[in-house]
Amino acid sequence: MESVRTLIIGAGMSGLATAAFLRDSDYLVLERDAEIGGYCKTVKQDGFVWDYSGHFFHFKQPEIASYLHARMPAQRLLEVNKRSFIHYGEQWIDFPFQKNIHQLPKDELIECLVDLYFARAPGVRSEPLPETNFEEMLYARFGRAIAEKFLIPYNEKLYAVKLSALDKDAMGRFFPHADLTDIVRNMRTADNASYNATFSYPEGGAIEYVKAIASEVKSSQIALGESLVSIDLAQKVATTSKRAIRFERLVSSAPFNRLLQAAGKLEDPAVWSWNKVLVFNLGFDKKGPKDVHWVYYPDRSLAFYRVGFYDNIFDTDRMSLYVEIGYPAEGEVDVAAMRARTLEDLQRVGVVKDHQLVSHHSVVLDPAYVHITARSMREHARLKAELEARGVYTLGRYGGWTYCSIEDNVIEARALTERMG
Ligand SMILES: Cc1cc2nc3c(=O)[nH]c(=O)nc-3n(C[C@H](O)[C@H](O)[C@H](O)COP(=O)(O)OP(=O)(O)OC[C@H]3O[C@@H](n4cnc5c(N)ncnc54)[C@H](O)[C@@H]3O)c2cc1C
Repeated sequence: MESVRTLIIGAGMSGLATAAFLRDSDYLVLERDAEIGGYCKTVKQDGFVWDYSGHFFHFKQPEIASYLHARMPAQRLLEVNKRSFIHYGEQWIDFPFQKNIHQLPKDELIECLVDLYFARAPGVRSEPLPETNFEEMLYARFGRAIAEKFLIPYNEKLYAVKLSALDKDAMGRFFPHADLTDIVRNMRTADNASYNATFSYPEGGAIEYVKAIASEVKSSQIALGESLVSIDLAQKVATTSKRAIRFERLVSSAPFNRLLQAAGKLEDPAVWSWNKVLVFNLGFDKKGPKDVHWVYYPDRSLAFYRVGFYDNIFDTDRMSLYVEIGYPAEGEVDVAAMRARTLEDLQRVGVVKDHQLVSHHSVVLDPAYVHITARSMREHARLKAELEARGVYTLGRYGGWTYCSIEDNVIEARALTERMG
């Protein structure tokens, strides 16, 4: 039987970064797909450059950005100051909603401000409102009007679940928190700084970051079109779609519930729930709205929750959109019917006018956003420790059952290789 010291499952950012940072070269990367990249793939079609949904990069650690950028010398890197809006009623207001309620009509501003004040101003309530889940957290910190006008409908469209099912920290650092002082101060001096206020984007699309990290991985040690099927934890043998491989340690970036299933440890499948996202990439014959990178759509009668404009990132003259639509994991996706509805809805909101669609592509990300619940966090920590004791490690956005960026994936892979030795 073949054997390898480190068997890595998945050639997305997490799996490739693990291989790149390992101290020895006794590894094999197994990738189910025919290509590397996972969710950071890029599609080039009819002169348009599209990702699997908009993938933009904002680095917290400059050395991670430098590490990647040093490995993509031929790439022109676009540095962009984000312009994002919320389509609300007939107008666009600045994102985040909670810090820009002063841009709403006066009666709605008053409603938001009064509810915000009575939800959280010091000394107003005898005891604080409960925050035992994501929905309660939104009511407690922002008041009813802000929660119900934007935060709840938008996030329910995205997650395709009642927000009371999610943990209050389900979005971690990606949730734009703001307190009463921040909100009132923002009315006079705008400070909409966020974790991604500026972002970088390679001219060749997100795949260029994958190629940068893959330049440190031996391509002969990536097996494409080969899936992990099962793991014998006692014998330390992985069965793939093609062979059996003995390993000393296995590092998986596959979704955690699927790793558990492969290892015979999926005790209660109901712990693990997630949404899927249908992404349409749409190319048109001429320019659309300018000075905007993406728009959030909380209106429940519209199919999509977000639309992004690649042409305003590349500064090109034909409108190039990504459109994101959330579904429950078990939801049926009728791509052709949803494309027709999406085009109608894009007309309704004024993005498409007399444009002709000249190119299109779609992909379903399944899973896209995992549902982080108190139980999923507890079970993930317990089962992760049990697997690690048997030499099986899990990482990445889906292996970690978390909400994160590709920079987080690289940081985590580097830390894991240091810990494993
Ligand atoms: C809608 C959306 C928008 C996003 N936007 C951004 C953004 O703007 N900026 C940003 O930094 N991040 C963004 N992200 C996050 C980013 O996509 C992820 O952090 C990153 O792609 C995760 O990489 P990964 O390697 O952990 O997982 P994946 O990319 O999912 O890679 C896992 C790989 O494992 C393979 N695999 C799975 N099971 C098996 C098996 N049994 N056998 C063999 N191979 C297997 C898969 O085929 C896949 O290639 C976004 C994510 C989503 C869903």
